[in-house]
Amino acid sequence: MRASRYHLFTLKENPVDAEIISHQLMLRSGMIRRHAAGIYSWLPLGLRVLRKVEQIIREEMDRAGALELLMPSFQPAELWQESGRWDQFGPELLRLTDRHNRDACIGPTHEEIVTDIFRREVNSYRQLPLNFYQIQTKFRDEIRPRFGVMRSREFIMKDAYSFDIDKDGMQHSYDVMDQAYIAIFDRFGLEYRAVNADSGAIGGSTSQEFHVLADSGEDAIAFSSEGQFAANIETVEALPPTGERAAPGATMQSVDTPGMHSIEALASGLKVAPQKCLKTLIVDADDDGLIALILRGDHELNTLKAERLDGVASPLRMAQRDKIKQVLGNDIGSIGPVGLTIKRYVDHSAAAMSDFVCGANQDDKHLQNVNWGRDCDEAVSVDLRNIIDGDPSPDGKGQLRILRGIEVGHIFQLGQKYSESMQSSVLDMQGKTVAPFMGCYGIGVTRIVAAAIEQNHDDRGIIWPAALAPFMLAICPINYHKSAAVKEAADDLYQRCRAQGVNVLLDDRALRPGVMFSDMDLIGVPHRIVLSDRGLGAQQFEYKGRSDQDAQDMPFDNLTSLIDKLVCDPCDTVS
Ligand code: ATP
Ligand code: MG
Repeated sequence: MRASRYHLFTLKENPVDAEIISHQLMLRSGMIRRHAAGIYSWLPLGLRVLRKVEQIIREEMDRAGALELLMPSFQPAELWQESGRWDQFGPELLRLTDRHNRDACIGPTHEEIVTDIFRREVNSYRQLPLNFYQIQTKFRDEIRPRFGVMRSREFIMKDAYSFDIDKDGMQHSYDVMDQAYIAIFDRFGLEYRAVNADSGAIGGSTSQEFHVLADSGEDAIAFSSEGQFAANIETVEALPPTGERAAPGATMQSVDTPGMHSIEALASGLKVAPQKCLKTLIVDADDDGLIALILRGDHELNTLKAERLDGVASPLRMAQRDKIKQVLGNDIGSIGPVGLTIKRYVDHSAAAMSDFVCGANQDDKHLQNVNWGRDCDEAVSVDLRNIIDGDPSPDGKGQLRILRGIEVGHIFQLGQKYSESMQSSVLDMQGKTVAPFMGCYGIGVTRIVAAAIEQNHDDRGIIWPAALAPFMLAICPINYHKSAAVKEAADDLYQRCRAQGVNVLLDDRALRPGVMFSDMDLIGVPHRIVLSDRGLGAQQFEYKGRSDQDAQDMPFDNLTSLIDKLVCDPCDTVS
């Protein structure tokens, strides 16, 4: 490709509303443009990368025996009514009516449609197992679309759905997809981890997420320092502390704590560690009442764990301030277990504390040297909190370490949920009708592009892993429009690269070298060759890898081996 004809829509300035680096760089490099919240166009440069992601996914899905099809975005409400999700799905589902007043939605996912296809086309166990997949546009009316295509409303997903005659078959199809995902993510050349996403059960593999590691990731993922355990932290069990609780010391005492409404304010005001304070959160119960959730001051509530507790409203809702005042008689900021009249759940670590500080259930007052059993009811403890770095690993092997990740894939065993509700069945070997066992497997295609940048960039721009690079090689001739020798050498090299299948960009835009170089760095081309009159005179060219510190002069003789190294995958489109 000649840059003069390609139109690199690069921007010099950082776009003001882009918060994370991948979003900034995708806008600056001219990969995407925004039209509305969470709605983007992919410009030619961005589309090149997106197509590479799709191609790798497609090849590995095909290799794993899945069959590609293409399902519609527009989905009739009837199918969603059959599965029961028309009523269950929240406002993320974009509903609409057509000119005949028929209800429909724009698909956020395709279980209903694929099950409808299956029940019309397949009727015997002999046709199983089957795995249908597509690479297609989804719409989810996200409450907070943000970070560009990382969390957008319209995005491209690869979604696959497997059908098997029994549970063992479903497990097998799931394992095949697990392996295909490993092959896909290996090929991207990104650092990633597969983690358990089921409810913390060790070894259970009914659901796994694939995360690209990046400090800016929305998810926290936990690994055991010595074992194989890896899971999204929202699912990881926090083990109760071992050993005896320390015996109570001094007697309980009330202290004035005006204005100290947070743990930080309390800890610094009283000069105690947050670990010595109790944090009492009030949430709505499912019967209109209130429930107290009590944690150690430095710990965070785990929403999923809380929602599962008997009596707690799900989804979890923090109680309204007015209601707390009305029921408890005091404000948030000074609530504690001593004399508390509502139902409470105490986290294991909070129950292991002694001589702690907690709210006195009186505005602007706290209690010190409080002890369970002695000063308030003994705590029956539950697991309520998020694990933290250094907690013991649930597999008993070492400690948990936490890394941040971006969820780019999710594989899941669905069982008979959709086949039963939508009355899809096949005849088994005995001629009995059976609802097939399904699995579903998603990859966030557009999100992967952003995640790759989030993981691979520097202050000059994107650093593409070879497999995703829009161009492998940039040829930057100096004075292309002034020096006939440079023009000839550059055109020759360009033709030679094209003939050999190197995905090459020739920068023939008559720009100053500095501008050329910064554009090539910004868009992340992995290799750069500079040709100049000075170099030609010495039979040399200048080479720089995108992450190299400095460029180096190389003799022309090295060109052949360099070009050989840059020949793309057979799948690569050369233009
Ligand atoms: P999240 O927790 O990030 O909302 P999800 O659990 O809703 O994800 P799935 O329904 O499992 O996601 O979708 C499969 C994949 O699609 C996800 O792993 C993610 O990579 C991608 N994805 C989901 N929502 C979005 C979005 N709003 N924008 C871009 N990609 C998305
Ligand atoms: Mg979601």
